[in-house]
Amino acid sequence: MCVRFNLIDGIATWEEMDGHHSTSKLSGEESAKALFTALRTEFANHLLEAAIKEFFTIKENYAAAKMLVVAPNIDIAKSYFDYLKARGHHARIATSEDTPTAQKNIKDFKRGVYTILVSVAMASEGLSIPEVSVICFLTNVRSVPWIEQCVARANRLASGKTRAVVFAPSDRSFKKAVRMIEREQLVPLENPENQIELFIKSGRAAANENSGGTKPWIVPITSTAHIEGISTVVSKSNTPSCAPSEAENILRKNIRDIIKIYLDKQHHGNRQPQQIMLYRRMKLVCDKKLEDMTSDELVKVWVWVKKEYTEKEPEKIIGKKFGRWTVRNFAYKKNYQVYYNCVCDCGTEQIVMLDNIKSGKSYSCGCYNKERASETKKEHGLTKSRIHTMWCRIRAMCYNKNNSSYENYGGKGVTVCKEWVNTFDNFHVWAQANGYQDDLCLVRIDKSKGYSPENCKFASRAEAMKGKSNGRSKS
Ligand SMILES: [Zn+2]
Repeated sequence: MCVRFNLIDGIATWEEMDGHHSTSKLSGEESAKALFTALRTEFANHLLEAAIKEFFTIKENYAAAKMLVVAPNIDIAKSYFDYLKARGHHARIATSEDTPTAQKNIKDFKRGVYTILVSVAMASEGLSIPEVSVICFLTNVRSVPWIEQCVARANRLASGKTRAVVFAPSDRSFKKAVRMIEREQLVPLENPENQIELFIKSGRAAANENSGGTKPWIVPITSTAHIEGISTVVSKSNTPSCAPSEAENILRKNIRDIIKIYLDKQHHGNRQPQQIMLYRRMKLVCDKKLEDMTSDELVKVWVWVKKEYTEKEPEKIIGKKFGRWTVRNFAYKKNYQVYYNCVCDCGTEQIVMLDNIKSGKSYSCGCYNKERASETKKEHGLTKSRIHTMWCRIRAMCYNKNNSSYENYGGKGVTVCKEWVNTFDNFHVWAQANGYQDDLCLVRIDKSKGYSPENCKFASRAEAMKGKSNGRSKS
C-alpha cells in the first residue's frame, strides 16, 4: 500500500486493501486533514503491522526491546489498541483520559511487564525509556520540535541496543522534519574549531570516567527515510557519559557571540525589536535562561542559533534593488527561508523574505499598490479594463459555482494562487511585467496546475486555442 502526500495543491492517491484506488485533491490545510483521515484507515493498520514485524525481528537480538505507538487522539489510540489486542499482542494504552491507570501502564511499560504501549502526546512527556526500539509515529502533528522529541525517544541508547526504527507516513512535512533533524546533527561538525574544542574538553572528561571513552561530545547519528514511509535511525556509539561544565561554558559563550554578532549587524533603529524577536524564538527552543540550561539544551540552542542567525555565505545582494526594495542586511532564517532587512523607496523599513523580493512577489512595502489603487479610483479606468475583467474571470471560473465554466475549472480543482486571488494589483503588476497586451490571452503553461505567476503566460489567441486540445484555457 502506498500513500503520497503533496502539501501544496497536491493530489493524494492511495490504494485500499481490496486494490481499489482513491484520489483526493489537497490544499495545504486539507493535507493535515487527509493525513488525519489516513491515520484512521487501513493505512495506519498497515504501518502498525510493519512496525510489529520489525519489532519482533529486533526483539530476537535485543530482548528488552519495546515498541511505542503514538496516536493522533484518544479515540484513535483506542482503535489502535483494539487492533493490536485483536491480534494477540500484549499492549497497554496510556492516554491523559485515564491518568492514574495511564501512569501505571507507563510504569509497567518501563519495567517491561508490557512491551508495547499506545499513547497520544505522552511520547514527548516523561517517556524516557532507553529500550524503545520501534516507534510507530501515527500522528498528524507536524511541528519539527515535536517530531524531533518523539523520534528522539528511539534514539536513547541502552546497552546492547544498536538500532531503532521509526515508522511514519512519509509526507513532505515529516520528511522535512527528518532532514532537519539530520542536518542539525551535522551542524556541530561543520565548524571544526568548535568541534575540536568540545571534543578535547569532553573527551578528557569522558576519559576520566571510563577508560575507553574518548568520544566527541556530540554523537552524530545517521538516518535514511524510505519511500514506504519507514525511516531508520541508527546510532553508532554509546551515550556520552559527561556533561562537562567547561564545555557548557564554551557553548554559552558561542551562543552569546553569535547573538552579539547578529545584533551588531542590525540597523541601529531595528536592533531592539530584532533582539526581542530572537529571544522570543529562542524561548520556543528552550524556555530557560542560558545559565540554567543543561548541556543537551545548550547544544540544541547553539545548533539552532547557528542555523538561524549566522549567514553561511554572505549573499551578494546587499545594496541591490528589487522593485522598490533595496536590500540592507541579513535579518534571519526561518523554515529554510532567508529574510533580509530592506528599505522601500518611500523610506519604510521592513523584513522581507528574500525569495519574495527576488521573484517580484513583493514589490514594495505596499506603497506601490496604494498609489495604483488611488490612481484607479481617480481614473475609473482600470476596474473596467480588459485586464481587470481577465482577473475577475479567472476567479469566477475557479470559485463561483454559478459560473458556466466552473465545472471545467474550479470543479476540477483549478485554483488561483494566494498572491492573485484577493489582490488585483499583484496580478496587474505581474501582467504588465510579463508581456500583457490587449490582443493576448492568459494561458496556463501546465494545464494540470492552477493560475499563478509560475504557471501563466500571455499567448496569442491562435496559440491559446492550440492549447485547448489537451485542456481548456481562457483568454
Ligand atoms: Zn514603500
